[in-house]
Amino acid sequence: MKFTAPRGTHDLWGDQAKKLRKLEEICRDVFLRYNFSEIVTPTFEDASLFIKTTGETTDIVEKEMYVFADRKGRQLALRPEGTPSIARSYIENNLAQTAGIGKFYYVGSMFRYEQPQAGRYGEDYQIGVQYFGNASAEADAEVILLARDILIRAGIKQIDIRLHSLGCENCRPAFRKALTDYFKPDGEKGKELCDDCKKRVGKNPLRVLDCKIDGHKFEDAPKMEDHLCAECRCHMGRVTSLLKDAKCEYTLDHKLVRGLDYYTKTIFEIRSSALGAQDAMGGGGRYDLLIKELGGPDTPAVGFAFGAERVIIAAEKENPDFGREQVKVIFVAASSETFYSHAFKLAEKLRNSELGGKVSIEGPVTDKSLKSQLRLADKLGASKVVIFGEDEFTRGAVAVRDMKTQEQKEIQLSEVMEAL
Ligand code: AMP
Repeated sequence: MKFTAPRGTHDLWGDQAKKLRKLEEICRDVFLRYNFSEIVTPTFEDASLFIKTTGETTDIVEKEMYVFADRKGRQLALRPEGTPSIARSYIENNLAQTAGIGKFYYVGSMFRYEQPQAGRYGEDYQIGVQYFGNASAEADAEVILLARDILIRAGIKQIDIRLHSLGCENCRPAFRKALTDYFKPDGEKGKELCDDCKKRVGKNPLRVLDCKIDGHKFEDAPKMEDHLCAECRCHMGRVTSLLKDAKCEYTLDHKLVRGLDYYTKTIFEIRSSALGAQDAMGGGGRYDLLIKELGGPDTPAVGFAFGAERVIIAAEKENPDFGREQVKVIFVAASSETFYSHAFKLAEKLRNSELGGKVSIEGPVTDKSLKSQLRLADKLGASKVVIFGEDEFTRGAVAVRDMKTQEQKEIQLSEVMEAL
């Protein structure tokens, strides 16, 4: 039987794996600059956590979640997104009291059962932050600027930041009502909706604006900005003014909804024109009610996540060498079996020397002739090859070959380290 990776998943190796690590490195550096510390949570949780937070009527929960029963019959789910787990952990571990400042970042796989297509996977790698306990517009702006900072450091210049406010529990109900009326089932607009949207209208009318089929149709549909209360309007004004001060370009997009239920006030999405139909590199927003709804203290919060694969595609488009760092290699070769253990010992010594931190040490490859080892060293891009050979060894020495110039020098074993 031949095994293949499950549908929607992919393996990463070589340059692709390096690119993922490079992006992670850039993110961790930026997180440190903004004083976010890491939080690691399980990859699966009680399924009802996501049903309650992400939302029962969202596509994620309705269609995309990997749900399974464990051997005791408990309903679990592979996490489809990061926020619910971190919110759960924040409450469970009483982080409001102990963490000092509630700024966390996370890195890890998310799982969604989706029709695999370019930019949509069953398992994707997300990197994100959650900022708890700060209700001010400064926190929103900080998170958006942090996200932009990461993209700039990854060499991405085409950054399209979409911004919108979803209002709060005071002003959103009137907007929902206006939308429900506009799309009423027996009305002209209601009849034009796709089958999914016809079901959505009653439960979650905002999602109609986000629908891939219907989203573009209703230009004259009610807009959230016409319903924002004074506080939400003021909050949005402050976020945009902070972004302008930071010379951060953005577009106010009244059609932006995001597929999750818990957002309040600011939401944003960061897109790249270098990507195809799935052009969102990341997104997020404020969720001031979620922690309380989950039984925690009344805690405002804002967060976002990048889809690492998509950010990498955008980075590669603008900079083909993104993450492709050449590792320096030194190869230790043995001309015959007599020298295997000598070569092995030297390789070990080099790895544990100062050189080891900067250079990869390879060899000896014992089932190959010296000629094949040199060929392999060349293939690996080795800068130097240390050769254990009969003649040199009788003089307590080795040959060191510079692979670029093909020059070979005899070096005393005691002086190899300096010569390299
Ligand atoms: P979301 O919170 O669902 O918007 O997810 C945040 C980001 O993760 C998105 O903007 C995408 O870049 C990425 N993402 C989400 N779902 C997938 C998926 N199925 N495949 C690849 N990337 C995804």
